[in-house]
Amino acid sequence: MTSALFDLTGKTALVTGSSRGIGKAIAHGLAEAGARIVLNGVNTERLEVTRAEFATQYGDDRVAAYAFDVTDDAAVTQAIESMEQDIAPIDVLVNNAGIQHRVPLLDLAVEDWERVITTNLTSAFLVGRTVARGMIERGAGKIINIASVQTDLARPTIGAYTASKGGIRNLTRAMTAEWASHGIQINAIAPGYIHTEMTQKLVDDEQFNSWILGRTPAHRWGTTDDIVGPAIWLSSPASAFVNGQVIFVDGGMTVIV
Ligand code: NAP
Repeated sequence: MTSALFDLTGKTALVTGSSRGIGKAIAHGLAEAGARIVLNGVNTERLEVTRAEFATQYGDDRVAAYAFDVTDDAAVTQAIESMEQDIAPIDVLVNNAGIQHRVPLLDLAVEDWERVITTNLTSAFLVGRTVARGMIERGAGKIINIASVQTDLARPTIGAYTASKGGIRNLTRAMTAEWASHGIQINAIAPGYIHTEMTQKLVDDEQFNSWILGRTPAHRWGTTDDIVGPAIWLSSPASAFVNGQVIFVDGGMTVIV
């Protein structure tokens, strides 16, 4: 009974931004739960290295890779049409691709503001909308949007990122308002500070590192593996009545002042 609740055998999962970092860890977790994985990124060489790694571990028929830019509406539509035709309909979508840009708001160029908002927020709308059309027809699906502790908390120098991740919370709710009645569960995972390439400079910064340890009740950085269990739960039958929620996986950072 317990394993059936979390079993993804026969399901197909698209994880955006899965050539590395959190997306790659989530993709591994969903593969281990039985899913066929569609990997994505923009750097084709990095994506191919990850695809080959998955093919060795799970078998060639359990992994595919589609390089496309999640901010390009036409490219998104074309990629999803071809993966649904050539592989299988998408049962699980994880909107994970994202970027950071650290500049105080007064110095932030509008082009950089737009690049962050488009990559982190508009992409989830574009990929979500395209995948949801098929999910609505089939009357089932799971969408996980990757949020952040910046969905709830602000810090200087990351204004565009904070706005984009706050937007992810309400996009998750908006999708739920319109699509939950079609058998689709849409939720968000909000990771705390996770040690990845995106945060390597912060890990190396002694002052920032000690701020993180002091600010986190669990007194450590998160690992990409910390995100995997919640991702399997929100992709599986175990979360059948969980709708529109943001699940914070942050060692308790957002519950203390
Ligand atoms: P990462 O290591 O920098 O990896 C980012 C991934 O996104 C890469 O696979 C990258 O592909 C892909 N990507 C970026 N722009 C893209 C685009 N326009 N189209 C398609 N793919 C694109 O990042 P991460 O730390 O794993 O973060 C992943 C997600 O978790 C992001 O949404 C981030 O905001 C969120 N998050 C991270 C942390 C953290 O502490 N790391 C905390 C909270 C939330 P390429 O390899 O081709 O560039």
